Amino acid sequence: MKSSTTRTRSEIMGQIRAGNTTPERVLRSALWARGVRYRLHPGNLLGRPDVAIARAKVAVFVDGCFWHGCPRHYVRPRTRAEFWGEKLSSNVGRDRQQTLELEANGWRVLRFWECEVLERTADCAREILLAIRAPAPRPKPAPRLVRVVPVCDAGSVERRFLVDLRSEEIIRVEERRRTTHKVRAAEHQKMVRARARRSGSHRATVS
Ligand SMILES: [Zn+2]
Repeated sequence: MKSSTTRTRSEIMGQIRAGNTTPERVLRSALWARGVRYRLHPGNLLGRPDVAIARAKVAVFVDGCFWHGCPRHYVRPRTRAEFWGEKLSSNVGRDRQQTLELEANGWRVLRFWECEVLERTADCAREILLAIRAPAPRPKPAPRLVRVVPVCDAGSVERRFLVDLRSEEIIRVEERRRTTHKVRAAEHQKMVRARARRSGSHRATVS
């Protein structure tokens, strides 16, 4: 199976820069419907979180599965291995730095994968509401892939190295068959439309 084309990737990049991806919109509207008021991409905060609730000092990021090393959906590109390998580890390093620095400044940082947001929107929104209301619990484990290398010439088996978001230490190494199980924007859109139809005009406002 062919990995995404360069064009698709640059389109995705464009969306990322615009900060207006489908998962971000889905999460924002779920929060809005629950009475949460927020700022988008505030320039004064490190990493410009996708959503920031200043009063409660809660910063929310929606991390793209490919760019940030989702253990379920990262697909190792077969070409330009070195470039993409470095890209992944530098993205994960930047995520860690942003998270730790914000936390050191008293912010609660919640990072969700785009797949989580699309598959379990209400759960993600609930987690954010809890963070807004409750004093800080310990952050939950946040495994992400930092390196994926082929272990055979054909590249059909991969060795995958996982770190936790908040530490550089490798927490797990696993070997498994290459997966190309990607998150597909079109499927997401369909899912979101179906969900919108099901929920109709229901609005639960939580203050
Ligand atoms: Zn994912």
